[in-house]
Amino acid sequence: MQFIDITQGFYADMPSFQAKWYPKSAIYAVMTPETDPAHTGRTFTRLELFAHNATHVDVPQHFYAQKETLDQIPLDTFIGHTCIADLSHKAPREPITGDDLEQALNGIWTAGSRLIIRTDYHHHYWGHADFWDKPPYLVLSAADWIVEHGAVLVGLDCITDKPGDTTQPVHFRLLGAGVPILEYITNLHQIKQPTGYLIALPTKVDGVEAAPVRAIFVEDFQGRASL
Ligand SMILES: [Zn+2]
Repeated sequence: MQFIDITQGFYADMPSFQAKWYPKSAIYAVMTPETDPAHTGRTFTRLELFAHNATHVDVPQHFYAQKETLDQIPLDTFIGHTCIADLSHKAPREPITGDDLEQALNGIWTAGSRLIIRTDYHHHYWGHADFWDKPPYLVLSAADWIVEHGAVLVGLDCITDKPGDTTQPVHFRLLGAGVPILEYITNLHQIKQPTGYLIALPTKVDGVEAAPVRAIFVEDFQGRASL
């Protein structure tokens, strides 16, 4: 059994989307061994995380104020059998369509699974100044395919909606159908098998639209009763 960490972690001064409203995540030293008033050498850190800035999951409330918040999503959405659509041949700025998913998942897909879309874009371009300008992205036909084929969650290492398209049709379609979106995953090139087991539990925060996730892909899970 192989555990592959597919998480983009948070760190101080990490890159973030360039928009006036977009907050920076920050990590503060609340106490260091030098400032510990009890002189016991303790460290305390305060995290100020903007969930959408690293691996995280979006749930329906993100685009539909009255729909489910994070704490209302069943746990088995985030844990279980998962199929990978290998679209690593996609170039920057290339759309991903329903036909692309149909082709990539032929003979692999089973309804009720989680779906991961692999482009390797995050792996190659994270940290580049134009990261947010040129990723491959899903179009509405891909979102339709995902909903119509019964995916319970979709994860991706590119961007959900076309950069600059403020109408965000893919977010609306997926979240409107109750399919959470696991965004900014990475390291998918390390996965050698087309199916496996995903563990992508978000930090539990009540009443919110998204939260950070530690996402792990497990290979050779089949038959391991110990997990
Ligand atoms: Zn998000």
